[in-house]
Amino acid sequence: MIQENIKEVRKKIQEACNRCGRVADEITLIDVSKTKPVEILQEAYDAGERNFGENKVQELCDKYEIMPKDIKWHMIGHLQRNKVKYIVDKVELIHSVDSYRLAEQIDLEAKKKNVIVNILVEVNVAQEDTKFGLKTQDVLNLVEDISKLSSIRVKGLMTVAPYTENAEENRSYFKKMRQLCVDINAKNIDNVSMDVLSMGMTGDYEIAIEEGATMIRVGTGIFGERNYNTQE
Ligand SMILES: *Cc1c(COP(=O)(O)O)cnc(C)c1O
Repeated sequence: MIQENIKEVRKKIQEACNRCGRVADEITLIDVSKTKPVEILQEAYDAGERNFGENKVQELCDKYEIMPKDIKWHMIGHLQRNKVKYIVDKVELIHSVDSYRLAEQIDLEAKKKNVIVNILVEVNVAQEDTKFGLKTQDVLNLVEDISKLSSIRVKGLMTVAPYTENAEENRSYFKKMRQLCVDINAKNIDNVSMDVLSMGMTGDYEIAIEEGATMIRVGTGIFGERNYNTQE
């Protein structure tokens, strides 16, 4: 079943790319495996998947220990400063940096472990009260500040668009994100690139691809509904 879901998602990625003249190789599919047991992740791995997204530090670390070592782990959830130390040397990319204090902590722990940590800055592009992330107008300043931290590389931006039944409604937010990337890229800041645009989830990833996403984060579309009651 997981295998079929992945096939279907990859087909839709291809179709979205065809519609806008992009190549599917440009898009990294992140399998969002939060709350799912490792046996299920293994099914996705066996189907060829290598990028997995988790939103809790403990869960990411537990799965990291058990799963094959060639997996690239993405931290996509809100990150507390006191937990940074557990993941800096385990993750491919932290998608959810939304404050200088958090970035400073990442830099500090990265130096202790002698690693360089790749991050994205999270943007609350629709300015929803319930969401983490920076206001659009504050992003450039934060990126400039973080660029001075020598053990961090800013790779781009991430957003969680509003939940909607009609993905078309998020198109304008995705456009805004892409424009923000272009604007920041034009500043040519040291240690900063805007190559990664992480946006689009199960409900809206095709639209996100049409608007320039380079990473999409798909949970339900691959693993089915999450059952939070059976967790822990
Ligand atoms: C859970 C989650 C996703 C995946 O959501 P689906 O709608 O299940 O695809 C993507 N991004 C973030 C940050 C998440 O927390």
